[in-house]
Amino acid sequence: MDTEKPPTIHLRNYKPPAHLIETVSLDVKLHATDTRVRSTLAIVPNPKSSIKNAPLVLDGENLTLHSVAIDGDRLPSSSYAVTPTSLTIKATPRKPFRLDMETGLSPKDNTELSGLYLSNGIYCTQCEAEGFRRITYFLDRPDVMSRFTVRLEADRAEAPVLLANGNPKTEGDVPGTNRHFAVWDDPFPKPAYLFAMVGGDLAVATDSFTTRSGRKVELRVYVEPGKEDRCAWAMESIKSSMAWDETAFGREYDLDIFMVVAVSMFNMGAMENKGLNVFNDKYVLAKPDSATDLDYINIEAIIAHEYFHNWTGNRITCRDWFQLCLKEGLTVFRDQEFSSDMRSRAVKRIQDVRTLRAQQFPEDAGPLAHPVRPASYIEINNFYTATVYEKGAEVVRMMKTLLGAETFRRAMDLYFDRHDGEAATIEQFVACMEDASGKSLKQFFRWYEQSGTPEVTMRGKWNAKAKTFDLTLSQKLAPTPGQAKKEPMHIPLAIGLVGPNGHDMQLDIAGTDISGEPVIELKEKTKTFRFRNVGSRPVPSINRGFSAPIKLRTDLAQKDLLFLMGSDSDSFNRWEAGQTIARGLIGDAIKKLKSGRGIAEPKAYAAALRQTLSDDRLDPQFLSLMLTLPTEQDVAGEMARNVDPALVHRAREKIRARLGEALDGDLTRIWRTTKVAGAYAPDPDSSGKRALRHAALGLIAASDAKRGAKLAFDHFLSATNMTDTIGALSVLTQLDVPQRDEALEQFLAANGKDHLLVDKWFALNAQLPFPEAPRRVRDLLDHPQFSWQSPNRLRSLIGSFATLNPVGFHAEDGAGYRLLADVVIRLDRSNPQVAARLAGSFKSYKSLEAGRRTLARKALKSILKTEPLSRDTYEIVSRSIA
Ligand SMILES: [Zn+2]
Repeated sequence: MDTEKPPTIHLRNYKPPAHLIETVSLDVKLHATDTRVRSTLAIVPNPKSSIKNAPLVLDGENLTLHSVAIDGDRLPSSSYAVTPTSLTIKATPRKPFRLDMETGLSPKDNTELSGLYLSNGIYCTQCEAEGFRRITYFLDRPDVMSRFTVRLEADRAEAPVLLANGNPKTEGDVPGTNRHFAVWDDPFPKPAYLFAMVGGDLAVATDSFTTRSGRKVELRVYVEPGKEDRCAWAMESIKSSMAWDETAFGREYDLDIFMVVAVSMFNMGAMENKGLNVFNDKYVLAKPDSATDLDYINIEAIIAHEYFHNWTGNRITCRDWFQLCLKEGLTVFRDQEFSSDMRSRAVKRIQDVRTLRAQQFPEDAGPLAHPVRPASYIEINNFYTATVYEKGAEVVRMMKTLLGAETFRRAMDLYFDRHDGEAATIEQFVACMEDASGKSLKQFFRWYEQSGTPEVTMRGKWNAKAKTFDLTLSQKLAPTPGQAKKEPMHIPLAIGLVGPNGHDMQLDIAGTDISGEPVIELKEKTKTFRFRNVGSRPVPSINRGFSAPIKLRTDLAQKDLLFLMGSDSDSFNRWEAGQTIARGLIGDAIKKLKSGRGIAEPKAYAAALRQTLSDDRLDPQFLSLMLTLPTEQDVAGEMARNVDPALVHRAREKIRARLGEALDGDLTRIWRTTKVAGAYAPDPDSSGKRALRHAALGLIAASDAKRGAKLAFDHFLSATNMTDTIGALSVLTQLDVPQRDEALEQFLAANGKDHLLVDKWFALNAQLPFPEAPRRVRDLLDHPQFSWQSPNRLRSLIGSFATLNPVGFHAEDGAGYRLLADVVIRLDRSNPQVAARLAGSFKSYKSLEAGRRTLARKALKSILKTEPLSRDTYEIVSRSIA
């Protein structure tokens, strides 16, 4: 394998292309096994390129070239060369010229679901990152932006609906045939990765939105026929996204029509193709008896995310794929802000941090760690990661914190003004932040370049006589792959000093302006901040709202944390104080279990929780989060090495059981009083009550499995919406009780025809926290409803197993690792992108105790030995082993 290692691509080698493509005209005749694409490209030499007389090298994969012509003259085969990945035209005119090509491809045989594919009778495309080259030969790189016109033709019966980017122009029959056509024109230049076309028998829901300048935009949501009654929420979400972007960022929609198409076979969550967003139908379809509160929230957020890309991603795109976080980090930040405005800001922040800790922190701590802007890659599809997306969003959030909301908005306006219609870089984005604020972000830029999660240690000292409070902060960033030595980061820390009465003190630091939302900036390895006029002993509350994505170690005693848990004006830190205490309790429980000692009731913590639960001014969703302990990944991440996931699980369950006992009366009261009356609605209050009710049920079941199982099973039988059904099943699947399998069986019998609910069934089965889980999951690979072709089904069963079932995946005999390796090896042949994504589930194996570490490594090696192996999987596995 070493001799044929796929090449690594480096950011430092970036060069502008020698040619640009000004316009593209495509004529696509759809056919299951022989789709013909005639493309006419207007090519010009790139004035910014230093390379002169370069041959024209176009990207192309899995294509059959039928003809190629320059300015109307067909080229003899001696003037060009075709390889499996390219078409090189040896000599081209030194002036603008026209290139005509005809290529053929087979959408039916495209199991990778990249490029044009046919699945469930629908022709669909996915071109990000490098799928367009599987449709026709092209300069398939984001810094080549072109104007596209597309004529689509298909059999009318097979594909009555024909869609592409931009505005609809003409449509009609092809005389003398049973075929028809549609012409689409996109007036905005775009890179090829934003190209999309869809053909098939689809139903449509329509609506409209009038922009603030008074333009009426037609809205369409396309779904499989019969599912029209599940589009309403997605449509509402489109309208609220459009309105929000106008208010929050001053951005209006720009085409006459905006379309969303939901398909069931899709590698990603959704894709922001200009004017024609293609969605995994899991993130479109919803009605109360088929979707949970979480589904509704995800649909709203993902519709918004893809819509927001129209400005951050499409109008201003990335110069190259190393800049992926330019569009993704920024757009995740935008969708997080949107959800915060639509629902509870405090709750959203906590949920986002939970996700960051469960997904991104382990990535940053393991062999797959990479900077928010990677410096190299083998396969770009492997960099659609939590680091690029979620940490990328944190970096944008930190700049907003440093600049303040108003200046940040001016900086964003400047970015849109300055770079509209361009393919930009991170440097250009950050320059807008600097130019609008006059603040240097030179050191801050390290957030884009240094990988790993900074650890900040805090020590506080109050001097009663001098009335000063000294806060000493130190930072440390551990080595990560390829980065042995690190420089100090620029860390914005929102802060408060909480006085004995529970109120924030007025802050006064010599030489620092901390008016407004107090934020201190740590740029040094160690620095002491002296607060003056501090008349009584304060409890510092730092990194409020999780202002920086760091691990914070404080010298706060448990009584200080309990005080913050009850009194902090920052709701994030109220929750965080509880999490810190809980992490400590689980850590202690691990030690006690190891030495065979009993685990006492966490009295003080339970009392603080009881006090919180009795505060009826608090949002029920917030209370549900207060009742939820840190995830097992979070606890394992804190331990950093020699992790025994089974022990972590047992310790966490013990603490949950003790809490359940201690809070029994409160939990029972919650269970009785939070039942939501009336018709289902996914609004924040009712969904919050359901979340609180299910959190209470979970703790009841943790302390008393029999009683919990009975309550959960009755809840399952009486449920009138999918949130309650899944809430009940999620509690039952964590228990070893007879009702569990009975409920799972009933669920499948009732919902076996709905593929999204069958996905949920597979996911629930995959999460049974028992060592025999690998066997159960392996058996399910032979279940009649399992499909190797469906990314959603694979993610439901295998993805859930590997990421949400630490006990099963890390079974002591290595059966979980072998199962994952076997699945990756088989899947790599048909869908390398999804195979590589699943292989990434090994990302924390180096922190495991020796026995499991060895077994995981063995499983990884078995993948690497396989031949042939895709570039995607090769990169993930070889980096994991390195
Ligand atoms: Zn995105």
